[in-house]
Amino acid sequence: MSDMMPRNARHNDINAEASAYHTSAATHATLSIIKGDILHTPTPDDFEVFENGYIIVADGTVQRITSDLPNEYANLPVTDYSGSFIIPGFNDLHIHAPQYPMAGLGFDYKLLPWLERYTFPAEENFADPAIAQRWYKRFLNKLWSVGTLRFSAFATLHAQSTLQLMRLSQQSGLRAFIGKVNMDRNAPESLIEGTDDSLATTQKLIEKSRKLTPDIGFIVTPRFVPSTTPELMQGLGELVERYDLPVQSHLDENLGEIDWVRDLHPDIPSYAEVYEHYGLMPEGRTIMAHCVHTSERERALLKARRVYLAHCAQSNMNLTSGIMPVRRDLNYGLSVTIASDVGAGHVPDINRHIVQSIEASKMLSMLPGHQGEHPLRLPEAFYMATKAGGAFFGQVGSFEPGSDFDALVIREGDNPLGLSPQERLERFIYAGDDRSITHRFVAGREIPLPFPEA
Ligand SMILES: [Zn+2]
Repeated sequence: MSDMMPRNARHNDINAEASAYHTSAATHATLSIIKGDILHTPTPDDFEVFENGYIIVADGTVQRITSDLPNEYANLPVTDYSGSFIIPGFNDLHIHAPQYPMAGLGFDYKLLPWLERYTFPAEENFADPAIAQRWYKRFLNKLWSVGTLRFSAFATLHAQSTLQLMRLSQQSGLRAFIGKVNMDRNAPESLIEGTDDSLATTQKLIEKSRKLTPDIGFIVTPRFVPSTTPELMQGLGELVERYDLPVQSHLDENLGEIDWVRDLHPDIPSYAEVYEHYGLMPEGRTIMAHCVHTSERERALLKARRVYLAHCAQSNMNLTSGIMPVRRDLNYGLSVTIASDVGAGHVPDINRHIVQSIEASKMLSMLPGHQGEHPLRLPEAFYMATKAGGAFFGQVGSFEPGSDFDALVIREGDNPLGLSPQERLERFIYAGDDRSITHRFVAGREIPLPFPEA
């Protein structure tokens, strides 16, 4: 890179020492250099570690990562986080923003009665813009706090409060896809839409949000097959095609739910194929949450469509849904990410979901039919929570050159045992929390607490 610089580039460096940034004459790129113990997972096999290493960031994008500072950067200021470790930000591909206030409630029930008794009443509140404003600010503060820098969220079916969530997310500096939930069957009267209304409102919201929230994408969000009629799914599929949009929904979470889908759509061979049939599985742009009980036929489809599977181990345990066979799915070549599914997951902290995914995988490996299966290892689960989900947003989730610089700086107390950076990260994942996260960067920009007043 430096060899390509014009000879006079240096003359433009005179202000570099006075500023935390540097503008190169060749590219007008804003450069910053960040130092610390750097860990990431370019592949699921292992952590790549640069103890006292440097990340060179140009215009929000990682340019290189190195153990020693190259000479051409020697005169530039370094933001020094020595003693802290630096990891990619977490990406949560499945979370319900309006369920944040009720996360942790009702786990003596399974999915369908839990939806009726807890979730639907909670979501009804978001017809009120004042409630939406207050709770969505708190929701975004919480995600910021725990280091979830990008996410894909379900809002509710209310267009106004969905747009509020999108605008607040834009203001926060976090990045997201957000969807207005669509449901026109099998829901309480206050949470059911007319089919045409649902489609018209969705289309308006797509167009409005394109103008108002450039960093927040709209994602088409049928709640799940049982709550959307064939006509609604058909219409949503047409919106996906017309506006080139991604899709998120739920798939194969619970056995009762799967039977219900079979009864509703006896002519379509599987649950996953219902989404496909109605144009709701755009290739490489679809998130399906849970996928606990997929059939072989469905797995072939999920692979062909390059679907992101959002593994929600905590939620699946809370609602006694089952254990997703993650090792089998990874071996088969599916893309599995780790997600919180708040409020069926009780906390949004992705480090805790990493742990719970590993625990679920260990539990499964002890059960008949899975013995001898290798449980998830920490680097694999970390990869699933960073790079695997980050891919939904572009080149995000590791520090490889060309990636958006999304990062968490984490500082724990003393290190009396002389632990290595990797051991300190391991301890943070298992036993740490947001109190240790001191800085958060999204695409190179440091993000402060979004809504201190909330
Ligand atoms: Zn969900």
